Parts: sequence; structure tokens; C-alpha cells
Amino acid sequence: MASLAELTTLQNEALSLIADADDVDALEAARIEWLGRKAGRITALLRSIKSVPADERAEFGEAVNALKALVTEHLARRQSELESGRTKRTSVDVTMPGRRLRLGRIHPIARATREMVEIFGRLGFACVEGPEVEDEWHNFVGLNIPPAHPARDPLDNYYLSDNVLLRSQTSTVQIRIMETQPPPVRVVAPGRVYRPDTVDAGHSNMFHQLEGLWVEEGVTFADLKSVLTTFARAFIGREARTRFLPSYFPFTEPSAEFYFSCLLCGGSGCPACKRTGWMEVGGCGMVDPNVFEAVGYDPEKVTGFAFGFGIDRSAMLKYGIKDIRLLFANDVRFLRQF
Ligand SMILES: [Zn+2]
Repeated sequence: MASLAELTTLQNEALSLIADADDVDALEAARIEWLGRKAGRITALLRSIKSVPADERAEFGEAVNALKALVTEHLARRQSELESGRTKRTSVDVTMPGRRLRLGRIHPIARATREMVEIFGRLGFACVEGPEVEDEWHNFVGLNIPPAHPARDPLDNYYLSDNVLLRSQTSTVQIRIMETQPPPVRVVAPGRVYRPDTVDAGHSNMFHQLEGLWVEEGVTFADLKSVLTTFARAFIGREARTRFLPSYFPFTEPSAEFYFSCLLCGGSGCPACKRTGWMEVGGCGMVDPNVFEAVGYDPEKVTGFAFGFGIDRSAMLKYGIKDIRLLFANDVRFLRQF
């Protein structure tokens, strides 16, 4: 017969075996070892009760039955732990590294857009938006682009129906704003535009523009250059240079293409800047009087300038991205860097 002290030792042995069972099979083996009907160690103790001297039998029997109840309870608890997928019951290891929360990142396009809007905000420009599906009036007619103009070629636009297309430029928002409010107007309008361009390192058929418009009495081309140069220095850095080349757009007169110095190569020439040292960022100019007349402004009274930037190209310059396709590939390994 086992003494009561020995029963305590057996209890510890049984409970630690149960706690160490890593799977259902190990737990079943433990159950058989202790409570098996033929050779279970507690089963054998129960059988031995009747041979215990009568004056000790009650106490011993009570202790063995309590042991059986305890072991049964631990077996059941461990069983449900294993079945619910919890692993070995262990204490918390406070030296383990914590589980790091995966924070999302702001897409480089969104980041560049926010920064641009913020910079222009400091220069007094409000941020407005317009629809991506436009009618010909806002995309072309109001902007002084006549029906025969090559920009209206169906092959160069995503027409949805005769009169409706995906906007090819954010200049549409200029018209929408001037239609709805009298001068003065000082706004920027960021957004997506669509053109059926062949996709390569520098082109995408969907890209982002930021349109700017300032209309007031006495606004001049000097204000335009000042605003865009101030912007370039704030956005790219104090070393940024700007270049304005005469150009033609139907909705501005005079017009200019304007460039930021290429920061990828420091101006010495690289594939991103077509080896010129300059990145063409967008077009700009003084708003054509015909546009003012189309929206009901008096061209004798107000003047203004407009500009349109490629947000994607500016972001590429700023973040050193050499292929525009990376921006739209949705590859987390790329996006995680920003
Ligand atoms: Zn370059």
C-alpha cells in the first residue's frame, strides 16, 4: 500500500505528465497510464483500497478517490486546450520581443499630392476637385480647344460615348470653378487623368496632375514664375532650378512648358530626364481671354495664370524613382520603402 506522502508524489507526476502532453495522442497515453482500466496506476490504487487495514481504509480511500478526481479534471481541461488549438500552458516570457504592428504607408503619389496641396495652401491656394468622367464642354470647348484640334482625336482620348470621356487633363476643373464662382479665384485641383499613351518607364495611360489657377485683377506672368519657382524650391529643395520654354496651349496665351532640374542625375543627364538634365513637369501660361469669355468673366478686367503638373513625375524626381510603372504595380516591397 502507498503512503499518503507517496500519493502526493504520484499526483505531481501525473499532473506534470498531463500538462506536458503536446497533442491528443500524448494525452491519451497519459490517461491510459494513470486511469486505464487494466493497468492504470490510479486504477491499481483503487483496487488496493480493500486490502488496506480497516482503521486506515477510509482515509486512504478518500485520498485515492480525490487523486482520481483531480487527474480526471486535469485530463479534461488539457483535452479542451489541445482541441481549441492552445499549446502548452506556460507562463508568459516577458523577455520575448513583442509582436510588431504592421503599419500601412501612404502611397508616394498620395504623399506627393498632399505635400503639393500643402505648399500651395501656404501660397493661398484652396484645394478643389472635379469629376474624372467629363463632357466635351469642360474637357475641350470651354478650354478653347476647337473640334478640329488634334487633342480631341478619339484615338488620343478614352471616349465613353459621343460627348463623354475620361478627362485627359485636370484643366477641366478650371472651367468648373470659374463657372460657379466670380473672381478672385486661387485654387489647385489634384486628380487622375487618362490618355491612351504607350506605357513605358516615363509614361502611363493613367496618371496624376495637379492643376493650378489664379485669376484676379493685375495677375502677371511674373506671378506665375514666382509661384512655380517657390513651389519647386519648397517641394524638391532649395537647390531646385526651374526652366520655362515657350510653348502653345489653346487655353493659355502666352504659354510655356516648364521644367524642374533633374535631381536624379544632378543635371548631367540620365534616362529619366532623357539625358537633358531637365524633367518636363508641366505646362503653364496666362489664361486665354476666350476661356474667360466662355465662363462669363470679363477679360478686360481680370487676368490670371494656370498651370498643370504631373504629380507622378514630380514624385519620381523627389523620391528617386526611375520607372513610373513601379507607382502603379501595387508591389508592397516597393511601397514599403516610402
Ligand atoms: Zn536626369
